[in-house]
Amino acid sequence: MKNIHVVTVALAAVLMCTACNRDKLSETSIFENVPTLDTNSYTYNFDRFLYDSLLVPYNIAFQYKLGDETTDMDYNLVPCKYNLSQQVACAVKYLWIDVYAKQISPEFLKLYAPRIINVLGSPAINAEQQTEVLGVAEGGVKITLYNMNGFNLKNMAWMNQYIFHVMHHEFSHILHQTKSFPKEYERITAGLYDSQGWQYHSDEEAYALGFVTPYSMSEAHEDFVEVISSYITDTRATWAKRGFEMAEDHTHIVSMNEDQEGTTIIATKINYCKTWLREKYAYELDSIRAEVQRRQDNLSEEVVMNQLYKYYE
Ligand SMILES: [Zn+2]
Repeated sequence: MKNIHVVTVALAAVLMCTACNRDKLSETSIFENVPTLDTNSYTYNFDRFLYDSLLVPYNIAFQYKLGDETTDMDYNLVPCKYNLSQQVACAVKYLWIDVYAKQISPEFLKLYAPRIINVLGSPAINAEQQTEVLGVAEGGVKITLYNMNGFNLKNMAWMNQYIFHVMHHEFSHILHQTKSFPKEYERITAGLYDSQGWQYHSDEEAYALGFVTPYSMSEAHEDFVEVISSYITDTRATWAKRGFEMAEDHTHIVSMNEDQEGTTIIATKINYCKTWLREKYAYELDSIRAEVQRRQDNLSEEVVMNQLYKYYE
């Protein structure tokens, strides 16, 4: 059985997710279709960059060419434009891969990162549910990112919504599927989950009830990975709306507003996530957040794209 996990947002603009299968990771080999490098190909330099930067060190295949076997035919999908595929790959390397490799270890990524990152140009809208699919993860092996023809390296909020929040979210699912999920976490806001109606809640309503996003309200495992992903990618301004003052250097929580409803509950959840990640993976959530936020604050198109451009020299 194919394990599919879909990350969606309400069209109204909130971040969210539906339908999740938490089976064990698949052992299936995924490298049967990896193309060999063709020095005569138009895409050779880019392919060599992907080979050297993602495939060899981390066993991660970045798929940007559209193939029937790799896409969901329920949507009318178009490929990601070539120049945008290049930018997405460089951004993923700089803002995601390099962060975990530096703050935890390259081996950690090699063991747990998704084996395939698939990019598609078009969005995937579900008009009936009033949601937009941001990303799909299959059995912890492959992550598909949609709407990449809207990619803009200058728009960090867009990149977080469509790429990095999704990737940290899915990666966190892989981690809790691999080592036992902390059962007590389910009790923190037991009775408040709303698997059918989460998309009708605003951000503020979610915060007041002790959830970091409306999508967190769908179910405890989603809640858990949304806390981790939001902790890493959300800015100080967004955390202030949840009642938290984050350090300017992003390394820790300075204080929280205990009078704000939901804030202490969110703090309890953050502590569960931090402790669990530290104990199971020697993964320091504050270090990952600080590294990501520093890179976001000082994001330079030149630094990001030079990773690839040196292959054209
Ligand atoms: Zn999820």
